[in-house]
Amino acid sequence: MAKYLVVVGGVISGTGKGVSASSVGLLLKFRGHNITLIKFDPYLNTNAGILAPREHGECFLCDDGTECDLDLGHYERIAGINVSKLNICTSGTLHKELIEEQEAGNYLGQTIQMIPHLTDKIQQRLLDLGKDKDVVIVEIGGTVGDSESFAFFEAVRQFKQKLKDDVLIGMVAPILWVDTIKEFKTKPLQNSVKELQRHGLQPDVIFCRVDRPVPENIINKVSMQTNVRKECIFDAPDVQSIYQVPLGFYDRHVDDLFVDLFRLPRSSCRIQKYREVVQKYVDNHMPPIEIGVLGKYDNCDEAYMSLKEALIHAGIANEAKVNIRWIKSDELEKYKDNRGLHKHFEGLSGIIVPGGFDKRGTEGKIKAIQYAREKKIPFLGICLGLQTAVIEFARNVCNLDANSLEFNKDTAHPVIHFVEGQEGLEKKSANMRLGSFDCELAKDSLALEMYGTKLIKERHRHRFEVNPAYLEEYNKHGLIVSGRNPDTNLIEIMELDRNIHPYFIGTQAHPEFKSRLQFPSPLFKGLVSAAIKYSQENTKVDGK
Ligand code: GLN
Repeated sequence: MAKYLVVVGGVISGTGKGVSASSVGLLLKFRGHNITLIKFDPYLNTNAGILAPREHGECFLCDDGTECDLDLGHYERIAGINVSKLNICTSGTLHKELIEEQEAGNYLGQTIQMIPHLTDKIQQRLLDLGKDKDVVIVEIGGTVGDSESFAFFEAVRQFKQKLKDDVLIGMVAPILWVDTIKEFKTKPLQNSVKELQRHGLQPDVIFCRVDRPVPENIINKVSMQTNVRKECIFDAPDVQSIYQVPLGFYDRHVDDLFVDLFRLPRSSCRIQKYREVVQKYVDNHMPPIEIGVLGKYDNCDEAYMSLKEALIHAGIANEAKVNIRWIKSDELEKYKDNRGLHKHFEGLSGIIVPGGFDKRGTEGKIKAIQYAREKKIPFLGICLGLQTAVIEFARNVCNLDANSLEFNKDTAHPVIHFVEGQEGLEKKSANMRLGSFDCELAKDSLALEMYGTKLIKERHRHRFEVNPAYLEEYNKHGLIVSGRNPDTNLIEIMELDRNIHPYFIGTQAHPEFKSRLQFPSPLFKGLVSAAIKYSQENTKVDGK
């Protein structure tokens, strides 16, 4: 029978429940336990794929094509598990299931209610997920007291009533540091615990989030006010990198506590290798390089979370500290020539055009790609980044009046067209080409050199693809296909001949989703390596 740790948030959301849950998961995994995580999100959307990244941050994509909350990226990158549709559940999907079951006649005249029908469904998800696991870590989105999460808390209460000590509640909540009076304030946290108690639940463990270490007397106070043993209250101060959180938890013996509370066998925690990798990054002795990323949001760190992390991983693998310069693509659109662009790109050693949807900012991306191509700055195009690179090449090298059908339905040369079966789809949700697909890499290609293996698998999320009708024209000028889907022949990767450009490559996939601290994405690793070379060569030139 699996043990369950339910992680809830107090006071405000955004205090690191996902990172905390994943960090506990990683430590238990390092101790040899078979773990998984699930996120319950209280919103009514059934699919995170159509949530705006400017509000919600990136849409993370699983191998099975599930589009989900960015916290599932933490589960993969920090806890090191592979997530799928089983690891995410929104109120919307549960309600939809109930309604569909009712329409199919499954309830035969019963009144369908929040309790027990919805709460039973939630508990069933937990039981199903726990079947072959030692520990299931359950994250409830939002904050204790949110009216829309009532069903989840009620389900957890019933679940705990049945499984007793096999279900633990962990709360992640901020305590405040008030600088004017130089004091910590714990009242909001105390109130959140009271709110949790109104649901019939008592926290077993509390993580106090604050920007500095918390003294013992404050921990004692929280303990006294909340009825939680002080050994079960941890300070969780801000750290420079999320990858340090498991180390901080380990140093505070958080894993020992959970193993004891769950009555799991004691085993050693194999954390040393992980510590070494993280230490290398935080020690910050690695030489810096700067990569420009053409974003289009104000919250780029969140909206391109996996890409940002992939650059960190690639930096560590290359012994370099990668700094990202976010460049707003639509701001580049006003420039007529390179002169204006120059100030945005000065000092950069590499350029990434990430994935995206709709026309806004695409002309700016095309300008950036032209700059990277002409100035031989290492370039990586991801999904829309590949598509805009093809448009750029068709226009500026092959002299075609080209565009994507996504941006101009009447373009003279639709160099990017619909993936078969996508044209005419009216529904906007969960119906793109989604999930992991094979790609076969061409002999002697840069792609093959980077991946080191002929058959690769990456995750996809797109409606459009490169139109093969123009390939001959591209080939004449050195742009070649270096990866294709072996089943459909769909163009997956394109690159410029290495005699023309040292690193210019675009992929229809999203390799950032599979990048890990210890297993960086090959295309990102290659970009950073090329960027280091570019930066060394250009400093030499400048120094002359
Ligand atoms: N909008 C493009 C498409 O649907 C690219 C998608 C992406 O970058 N994920 O094909």
